[in-house]
Amino acid sequence: MNNSTVAADNPDSYPLMPTYGQPPVQFVRGSGTELFDRDGNRYLDFLCGLAVTSLGHAHPAVAEAIHEQARTLLHVSNLYETVPGLEVAETIDRLQGGGGQVFFCNSGAESLEGAIKLARRNGGHGKHVVVSALKSFHGRTLATLHATGQVEKHETFQPLPEGFRHVPYNDFEALEASIDPSCAAVLLEVVQGEGGVNVGDGEYFKKVRELCDERQMLLMFDEVQTGFARTGEWFAWQHHFESEGAVRPDVVTMAKALGNGFPIGAIWAKREVAAAFQPGDHATTYGGQPLATSAARAVLRVMESLDAPSLARAAGEELMGKLLAVPNVLDTRGLGLLIAAEIDTETVGMTGPEIALACLEVGLVVNGISPTAIRLAPPLTVSSEEIDEAMTKLSSVLGGN
Ligand SMILES: *Cc1c(COP(=O)(O)O)cnc(C)c1O
Repeated sequence: MNNSTVAADNPDSYPLMPTYGQPPVQFVRGSGTELFDRDGNRYLDFLCGLAVTSLGHAHPAVAEAIHEQARTLLHVSNLYETVPGLEVAETIDRLQGGGGQVFFCNSGAESLEGAIKLARRNGGHGKHVVVSALKSFHGRTLATLHATGQVEKHETFQPLPEGFRHVPYNDFEALEASIDPSCAAVLLEVVQGEGGVNVGDGEYFKKVRELCDERQMLLMFDEVQTGFARTGEWFAWQHHFESEGAVRPDVVTMAKALGNGFPIGAIWAKREVAAAFQPGDHATTYGGQPLATSAARAVLRVMESLDAPSLARAAGEELMGKLLAVPNVLDTRGLGLLIAAEIDTETVGMTGPEIALACLEVGLVVNGISPTAIRLAPPLTVSSEEIDEAMTKLSSVLGGN
């Protein structure tokens, strides 16, 4: 036992701001799909820090890359070039299908901030509005909070930066009706993660692409949660457009899984769009520094060598099937290994968040994504045995045994 403060022990002297409520557990160590708390209890991590540690905890190749780079070169600023950043940018561009350029930053919200600035720079004076979807999530900075289509999160922080408009997700007519010449970009998640794991429609995205071409707007996909194989393609937009060849987004934001836990984000944009940014338009001190990009380089190498999208597809199909056999699971939705399970919460007598807490008590990490659903996002490397064990734990919570 260590002496550090845990929220539950010392609510009055706890040193962290109360933005997350009371943390119910203190994790000290992880390995693959497993996590261990300060008392040595073992957990299966079916959340991955919100779709971040997609290769599992303490991945040896990533740990080694961070260790090696820390002894070699940590930081020189973006006035100079470093090796891992170039390699990661080239790989990201290749995985996007080529023809683009990359800007590195440190988080998902920063990648969205940069994309919003790029849309404004590209649109020019008077063409600056970003249209996004209700129930979307794009970050917590002031601009990305306004892009986030959850009006209840806006109120306490007004006034927010202007230039945002929200329309119902997956509803093409509503989107079309909202467009006027001030619109610079349409910003969408291919699967809404925080909004409840809502999967967008292929037909919808294709019509949105056509509309963006017609009205000279950028199509920007927020793949912070879905990017890097989580949904069974390198990027979720590839479920819908790959067969069409040239039909692609103009801008893609990414972060979470790129560093497997090391903070890093990135914006990818088609070259002709990226060209709207001139020297001095956008910058970051830390974004793309060698420690972050060497971690990302190791992540991408491992993911490519494992063919990570095929892992996500196979394990996702297995997990969805096995979830449906768990008592009181009514339905599942999602893509690849980003999954929500709708639960008969009336019979179980707990809400989604309460079920997640009960799962934690039996050693399974998931989260409550709505009053009636939990979200599962295990590592792409999760094994069949681990899925079975997780389902046994979930069954014990939902009343099966
Ligand atoms: C997590 C998330 C963000 C914000 O990323 P941060 O790193 O927390 O700033 C933005 N968009 C989506 C889709 C996300 O899931």
